[in-house]
Amino acid sequence: MISRNTQALLPFDEQYRGEVETRLAEDAYRTEHFLALCILFMQSLLLFIFCFRAGGPFFSPRRTGYTLLYFLLIVFTLLFLWARRRTRHRSGAFQLRLGAAYAGLVCLWSCAVTCLDQLGGNGLVVFSYMLPALAALTVLTLHQSILIFGSAFLIINLALPFLPGGIHNLFSNLINSFALSSLSIFIAWRLYLSRASAHYGNILVQKQYQELERVNQKLEELADTDQLTGLNNRRYLERHIRQRLEDMRGSCLPVAGLMVDIDFFKQYNDKYGHLAGDECLRVIAEEIRRFAAQGDIHAVRYGGEEFFLCWIGCGTQEAQEGAERLRKAVSVAQGPSGYPPVTTSIGIHVRVPWGNTDFEDFLRQADSALYQAKAEGRNRVVVKGWGAVCP
Ligand code: GH3
Ligand code: MG
Ligand code: MG
Repeated sequence: MISRNTQALLPFDEQYRGEVETRLAEDAYRTEHFLALCILFMQSLLLFIFCFRAGGPFFSPRRTGYTLLYFLLIVFTLLFLWARRRTRHRSGAFQLRLGAAYAGLVCLWSCAVTCLDQLGGNGLVVFSYMLPALAALTVLTLHQSILIFGSAFLIINLALPFLPGGIHNLFSNLINSFALSSLSIFIAWRLYLSRASAHYGNILVQKQYQELERVNQKLEELADTDQLTGLNNRRYLERHIRQRLEDMRGSCLPVAGLMVDIDFFKQYNDKYGHLAGDECLRVIAEEIRRFAAQGDIHAVRYGGEEFFLCWIGCGTQEAQEGAERLRKAVSVAQGPSGYPPVTTSIGIHVRVPWGNTDFEDFLRQADSALYQAKAEGRNRVVVKGWGAVCP
């Protein structure tokens, strides 16, 4: 029951608590740093003034009390700043608790100063500005602010009646301190809610954006992949390899294009069926994948029973030897169902990178070499030489 209530008070889903608290701790770091520096400045200034006042800082018991309290607050604040620095790597929750502990100490301190003020007839001045300032400049949960400002209210109202004039002002002190404590709790809680919900909203937007990017990337991958063989498809060739070759323009690095086509595949399909033909395509794709892993080779299913391999940094002789290895490997490769292997014809064209318009020509030349391989009797490799000369 308690945990459900607590959750209902939070402006974020429990699973994002860690991330929200980390961001809240960042807020707290900035504002609490400012508060601590103001406190250090003020207390040092007051101590300095005491040193030059007639009688010095220990002139009377009351002034000694102030001196000790100012000094104590300087020490607390320095310790807090030191602890903050040392624990910067700790979780957001830890840093928020540290800030709340400091707020609690400063609140206690302002009760003590208010009691001293009462001895001089100064009423609730420090209490009046310190509590709302703490509420505005620290990051406190509802429970923490109730604990801190509620305790301050109790302490001040238990202590003041025992001090001179306290009984006389009992009712006004009670009302004023109640209003101040409630106001401080309200300020702290409103600030916590607005900060936490802003961070929560940002986190959700960020997460959705990341998810969208992930889905987009997945869709891109799917659009670039041939479903039957798992190889990249012609779209990928057009979108990525063309660009890659364009970027290489002027590099003088040769590029080989290998157009691979299965021989008499129509007959194969007619004889063994379409499923056997599909299995055959997958087996050949696997051989091509294995082959492509040996170098800077980008293989795609170009369409039907044709594959294209773009081998970057490969000269004519290396391309021819590689294509022969691939042709032989395919000619003995069999799938799990044991259908007979097929032969392939491979047309090769090698050239140095070119301008945008020549990409089609590169493919055309490789295709023309393939056509020649078919015409010469199939199951062979034919090379078409350099399409451009490196300057
Ligand atoms: P060639 O030696 O001249 O290349 O003869 P071929 O029979 O291989 O060439 P053709 O272009 O006449 O036939 C290609 C065949 O490839 C026809 C088609 O049924 C088959 N094919 C294309 N895509 C697929 C596919 O995804 N699965 C299967 N099983 N067959 C396919
Ligand atoms: Mg064919
Ligand atoms: Mg074909």
